[in-house]
Amino acid sequence: MGYPRLLIYPEVIKKNGRILYDLCAEAGIEAVAVIKGFNALPPFLQALWEGGFRCFSSSRIAHLEEAKKLFPTCKTMLRIPMLSELAKMLQHVDISLHSEAQVLEALNQEALRQQRRHQVILMRDLGDLREGIFCREKLYLLASQVESMEGLDLLGIGTNLTCYGSIIPTEKNLGELVEDALEIEKRIGRKLEVVSGGNTSSLPLLIRGGMPKGISQLRIGEALTVPCDLIDYWKSPLPGLSNAALILEAEIVEIGEKPTFPIGEKARNAFGYETTYVDRGLRNRAILALGLADIGDENKLIPEDAGVDILGASSDHLIVDIQNSEQSYKLGDIMRFQLRYKSMLFSCASTCIENVICE
Ligand SMILES: *Cc1c(COP(=O)(O)O)cnc(C)c1O
Repeated sequence: MGYPRLLIYPEVIKKNGRILYDLCAEAGIEAVAVIKGFNALPPFLQALWEGGFRCFSSSRIAHLEEAKKLFPTCKTMLRIPMLSELAKMLQHVDISLHSEAQVLEALNQEALRQQRRHQVILMRDLGDLREGIFCREKLYLLASQVESMEGLDLLGIGTNLTCYGSIIPTEKNLGELVEDALEIEKRIGRKLEVVSGGNTSSLPLLIRGGMPKGISQLRIGEALTVPCDLIDYWKSPLPGLSNAALILEAEIVEIGEKPTFPIGEKARNAFGYETTYVDRGLRNRAILALGLADIGDENKLIPEDAGVDILGASSDHLIVDIQNSEQSYKLGDIMRFQLRYKSMLFSCASTCIENVICE
């Protein structure tokens, strides 16, 4: 058994999934499981299926292929696709998000050629400035165009928030999305099946009871496996939701006292950044065989031992301060960490980390 290794607790993921799925269902909202953050690892998919999810969503077709392989009856949803992947997408994906007329025209042609039906959700940008149609009138026009395309079904509209622009979902901005849906329904003369009101960051609004009536879907990734931000940043804890579905274990390869302030002529660190250091004198510290290649960002690890402080990392070494720890670590000992989204993203995609499924 090698290190670093990632302990995966499917029962915890299943329970988180069930809590979130039911929370949405009680509000008349369909919860879609977004699987890109954990590289669509099969034990996660299995746990979420058992937790109630029937639609899986990702930025990558390969993830959705995996989902279809495991659960042939599941629905799959892709983000705004590349022009170059439309033919492949039609084979594995039921629903895709859109913001470009040119892509929709090409997709319609390809769907007709392959004689496959495909469902489309048009994205509106409500101010977060990642994907989506910014101008309302343009959205309405495109909706009417898609409605008349023979190869495509207009399933609904959606939005994405708190990604680029850090804009939070509110009654006001999601209320605008519901208004958009009503206007489109008026123009095309039928109901839209889906009004997709964002991601994990929409949960606090739902929990507070402020979700506008008319939002019928949420696309949830982060909260399924690493809900710590929901608790720490959003102050929206949900009883039963746990951040302990994933534990990363790493081994100590150097240990002992060293100064805290680097000695010599100072330039830039391993990644070209100018970094500041605080002189705290001699401190007891350890180096773990784990690095940014595995975790992306050392500040996105949560040490299980509250006496451990993360000092820094290079691609393959993590330096931690253990001066205040109550444990007496020695060379070869294993240290354990809970994860946040970014460290999950990297560790689940790493080929150098062994995954261990735990009861
Ligand atoms: C990643 C993503 C999500 C899920 O976001 P979480 O914050 O992980 O819940 C939802 N929708 C889109 C379009 C995404 O790209």
